[in-house]
Amino acid sequence: MDRKVLGEVAEALANASSIVITTHIQPDGDALGSILAISRHLRQAGKKVCVTWGEEIRVPAHYQWMPGIDEIVEYGACIEADLLLALDCANEQRLGFMAEKLPLFKTVVNIDHHIDNSAFGTLNVLDFEASASCEIVYDLLMLMGSVIDEVSATLLYTGIVTDTGRFQYSNTTAKTHDTASHLIRLGVKPNEVFQSVYESMSFASLKWLGAILERAVFIDASSLVFSYVCAEDLKATGASLGDTESFIDYLRVAREAEVAAILKETPEGKLKVSLRSKGVVDVGSIAREGGGGGHRNAAGLTTDKSLDEAVAWISARISAQTPS
Ligand code: AMP
Ligand code: MN
Ligand code: MN
Repeated sequence: MDRKVLGEVAEALANASSIVITTHIQPDGDALGSILAISRHLRQAGKKVCVTWGEEIRVPAHYQWMPGIDEIVEYGACIEADLLLALDCANEQRLGFMAEKLPLFKTVVNIDHHIDNSAFGTLNVLDFEASASCEIVYDLLMLMGSVIDEVSATLLYTGIVTDTGRFQYSNTTAKTHDTASHLIRLGVKPNEVFQSVYESMSFASLKWLGAILERAVFIDASSLVFSYVCAEDLKATGASLGDTESFIDYLRVAREAEVAAILKETPEGKLKVSLRSKGVVDVGSIAREGGGGGHRNAAGLTTDKSLDEAVAWISARISAQTPS
């Protein structure tokens, strides 16, 4: 990471009096942890801050406990600001309708760890070694000399835990653990974070997960394990797509799975596809080819294809990368 740019960002934040903070649409634990941690510090520093993202604000049930979550507002309720701070967002498309707002800001700060980040900011802090954007926010807060209390530490820790699949994915580094270790010394209670994020599923959702696993399919030719969530599932359970975020982690536990995929029907009738690789296959490049993006081992895309078409398409791309 370019420490010089990080310093320039610290300076830009110090000089701004009002700031809009945003992240990618359908935010995950890292997106939420990073925007809430930085907003807390900027508010404490006396800034006018607005936290939002570029679609209707809906927070998945397993993140509703996060401190500050109630301060997230629709963009319409936001203040006018000189500076837009985007976190964990790889490109304009992932900003949703916030992309249209970019020209309204004199300074756009883009802090992210996705390898395919389009550098859409006027200041770009891109650290591809960072396991999570929360790791970069931690570096920024340390550089700014901010006091990281138990609440902020918990927010940052949550982003790191969720983006590393509980310190199990290949993006987990010694620095990730060093950062997590410091955050625990600052007051994080790992068991409480685990319970809030991973053990908060309703019993009905647990049964639903059972049904999703029941319908999983293994494609031998591409070592792909996949399952799907359809619109009727969401209607029947009253759940939203965000509530299914952890389902893919159960699919990938199969020893046979080199790649795991879950395909979810969106309210618009498209398919939101999540891909996870155990390392041999670069699912990031497959997602990019399909108009999405992400990391080598965790990526996603949204497609108009039917379920069968999408699975065949993914399976063929995997096979092309793994000649037998
Ligand atoms: P998910 O499967 O939604 O948890 O996403 C895994 C990774 O892929 C995350 O790092 C996302 O930022 C990225 N990703 C997911 N969906 C898309 C998309 N439609 N376009 C670009 N990147 C995506
Ligand atoms: Mn994210
Ligand atoms: Mn992230």
